[in-house]
Amino acid sequence: MANDITIALAGNPNSGKTTIFNNLTGAKQHVGNYPGVTVEKKTGEKNYKGYKINIVDLPGTYSLTASSIDEVVARNFIIDEKPDVAVDIIDASNLERNLYLAVQLIELGVPLVLAFNMSDMAKAKGSKIDIELLSKLLGSPIVETVGYKNKGTDELLETILKVASKKDKSAIDIKYGEEIENELEKISKLIESKYILPEKFSSKWVALKMLEDDSEVIRKVKGEARDAYVEIKEQVSKSRKHLKNILRDDPEIAIADARYGFISGALAEAYEETEQDKITTTEKIDKVLTNRILGLPIFGLLMWLVFQFVFKVGAYPMDWIDMGFSKLGELFSTALPEGLINSLIVDGIIGGVGGVIIFTPNIILLFFCIAILEDSGYMARAAFIMDRIMHKIGLHGKSFIPMLIGFGCTIPAYMGARILDNKKDRLVTMHVNTFMSCGARLPVYILLAGAFFPKIAGNVIFSIYVIGIIMAILMAKLLRSTRFKGESSPFVMELPPYRIPTFKGILLHTWERTWLYLKKAGTIILAISIIMWILFTFPMIGGNYSKDYDAEIASIEQSFESDEITEEEYVEGINEIESLKNAEALAYSAAGRVGRFIEPVFKPLGFDWKLAVASISGIGAKEVVVSTLGTLYSIEEANEESPSLRENIAEEYNPLIGYNFMLFTLLYFPCMAGMAVFRREAGRKEMWFQIGYTLLLAWVVGFIVYQIGRIFI
Ligand code: GDP
Ligand code: MG
Repeated sequence: MANDITIALAGNPNSGKTTIFNNLTGAKQHVGNYPGVTVEKKTGEKNYKGYKINIVDLPGTYSLTASSIDEVVARNFIIDEKPDVAVDIIDASNLERNLYLAVQLIELGVPLVLAFNMSDMAKAKGSKIDIELLSKLLGSPIVETVGYKNKGTDELLETILKVASKKDKSAIDIKYGEEIENELEKISKLIESKYILPEKFSSKWVALKMLEDDSEVIRKVKGEARDAYVEIKEQVSKSRKHLKNILRDDPEIAIADARYGFISGALAEAYEETEQDKITTTEKIDKVLTNRILGLPIFGLLMWLVFQFVFKVGAYPMDWIDMGFSKLGELFSTALPEGLINSLIVDGIIGGVGGVIIFTPNIILLFFCIAILEDSGYMARAAFIMDRIMHKIGLHGKSFIPMLIGFGCTIPAYMGARILDNKKDRLVTMHVNTFMSCGARLPVYILLAGAFFPKIAGNVIFSIYVIGIIMAILMAKLLRSTRFKGESSPFVMELPPYRIPTFKGILLHTWERTWLYLKKAGTIILAISIIMWILFTFPMIGGNYSKDYDAEIASIEQSFESDEITEEEYVEGINEIESLKNAEALAYSAAGRVGRFIEPVFKPLGFDWKLAVASISGIGAKEVVVSTLGTLYSIEEANEESPSLRENIAEEYNPLIGYNFMLFTLLYFPCMAGMAVFRREAGRKEMWFQIGYTLLLAWVVGFIVYQIGRIFI
C-alpha cells in the first residue's frame, strides 16, 4: 500500500522506548526499569491520518557496533529492512551519552527523528536546550516528549509523517579529523572501484566500519566480494597501522572520541546546564544503596521484607479464598448426584484449579513489590550490586538481568540471556537461570510451608529462594570451570536515576502478571487437572479391592444400630474405611501404577508415590504440582466437610519431607514450555544437558538432605 510506513524505534535502554512504543500503538506491554528487557522484536500498528504506520521496537542499545547481538540486530534491521524513518528515543536528561547512538544513526544515513524523551526530568534538572539550533546541528528534527504522560505523541507522529514523505536523511557529515578522514577516503575509493556495493550500503559507512574492525561488516564484505576482499583488507590493515602510529590509540577509540567530540561541540552551542539537584539526590541515595559493604545486606534485607510482607499480609485473603473453595466443593458434591461427574467437578476441577487459584493474593502482593522495586530504579542497583559477585563467579555482570527476570518466569529469562555477547556466558546463564525460583513454584512453597511451618512460612520460603541463588552461584562456577571454560568480557552497568513510581504503572504491571497467572490456571492448569483426574480415576478398581470393605462397613453399621458404639465413633470408622478404599482405588489407577512403579527412585528422598506423581506432573507447569495434590487428596478424602489440602498434607508427611519436596521442586528444570524455548535458544544438546543435570542435582540434594535430616528426627 502506498500509505504504508515502517518506522523503527531505536534508543538506549531505559530511555523510555517501550513507553513511547505503547503510546504510539496503544498496545499494553511490560515497562521495566533495568536495561535489557527489550530483547525481542516487538511490532505494533497505528492508523493515523490515512497512513498505516508499522512500528518496530528495536533492542535498546548504546551503540551500533558489532559487539553485541542486540546492536547487530538493531543495525541490520535498519540496513536490510530500510524503515522509512528511524526514531531515536533519547533520554534528554542524559543527552551526551544518548546522542552517541544518534550520531551512529546519522552515519548510517537513515531518515531520522529524535524524540527527546524524559524532557520533564531534563527540565527538573534545570537544563535548557535550544531545540531549534540543536536540530539544525544534528540535521534531524527533534520532538520533546514525556513518555509516561503521553505528552508529545501527536507531534512525534506529525514529524514522522513529514520526514517519511520527504525521505530526508540528515545532511550532516560527521568529521573524524583529518588523519582518519584521509584513510576513510582511501578505503572507500578502493571499495567503490573494486566491487559494486549493494545499494543499501554507503561506501563511507563500510569503510568506517572496517576501519573500526567491525567483524560483522568485514564478514559481509568478504562474503560479497571475495576477490576484492583481500585487497581492501590489506588497505584497511595499512590504514589501521598508520593511524595507530600517529594517534597512539586504536582507530576505533579515536573514532569514538571523534563522535563524542562532535556531540560536545553541538551541546556546547545549544545546551545549557545549571544546578543538578535531581542527580545529586540520586547520587546521595546511591552512596548508601550501592555501597560496597552495605549494598548487599540492604538488598538482602529488602528482599526479606518483601517476603514477610507477601506472606504475612497474603495469609488472610488466602484463607478466605481457601474457605470459599471448600464451601464450593461441598456445595457441588451435595448438589450433584454421586458419580463420575461429581468427582470430575469437585475433585478434578475445584480441587485442582482451586488449589492453584487460592495463591492469587500472594502473587498479587509479590508482583506489586517487584513492580515498585523495578519502576523506582532499585532493580538496576540490585543488578549493579550483583555485578561484582557475578564477576567473581566467572559470569558476566549482565547475566544478572535474565536472572532477575527468572524470578518471574524462566521462559523470558532464557530469551533475556541473548543480551550476552559471549556464547559461553549465555549458555552458563541459561543453565543456572532455572534456580532463580520462578513464580510458578511459589504456590508449591506456600502450600508446603503453610502446612509444615505455619508460623515462619515467610522465612522458610525466603530460605528456598536463597538456596536457589546459592545453587546458581555454585553451578555457574562449576560449569564455568569445566564445560564452559573461558574469559568473560567486562561491562559497564547503566544506572538510571531514581524515580517515584507512578501508581498507575505499578497497578498495571501487577495486574498484567496476575492476569497471566489466572489465565494459566484457567487454561493449562485446568487441562492438566482434568487429565490428572482421568489418570487418577481410570482404570476403575470395580470389584478388585484387597479386602471386603463393604462387609466391614456393614459390621460397623450393625454395631452402631445395636448401640455398641457412639455416633462419633461410627462416623469416624466409616470415614476411615472409605479413605482406605479410596486410597486403594487411587493406587489401582493409571497414575497410581506409574507412581508406584517409580516410587523406589524417590523413596531415598522420603517421597511416596503421591509426591512422585505430583513432581512428574509438575513438568507440565510447576503449579500443577499443587493442583495434582489437590485432586489426589480430594479423591482420597471421604469426608463431606473435607479438610483443606494443607491439613491433609501436614497429616501425611513430616516437615523434613515437606522441606525436601520444596527443594526438589526448586531444583529440577522449570517446565515443558521452558524446555521448548531452551531448545530454540541453545539447541537440542544443551536442552538435554539442562534436563539431565538439574534432575540429577535435585535428586542428589534431596537424597543428602533427607538422609542426613533423618538422623536428627
Ligand atoms: P526502555 O527500556 O527504553 O524500553 O524504557 P521504558 O519504556 O521501560 O521506561 C523506563 C522507565 O522510564 C519507566 O519507569 C517509565 O515509566 C519511565 N519513563 C518513560 N518515559 C518517561 C518520561 O518522559 N519521563 C519520566 N520521568 N519517566 C519516563
Ligand atoms: Mg523496554
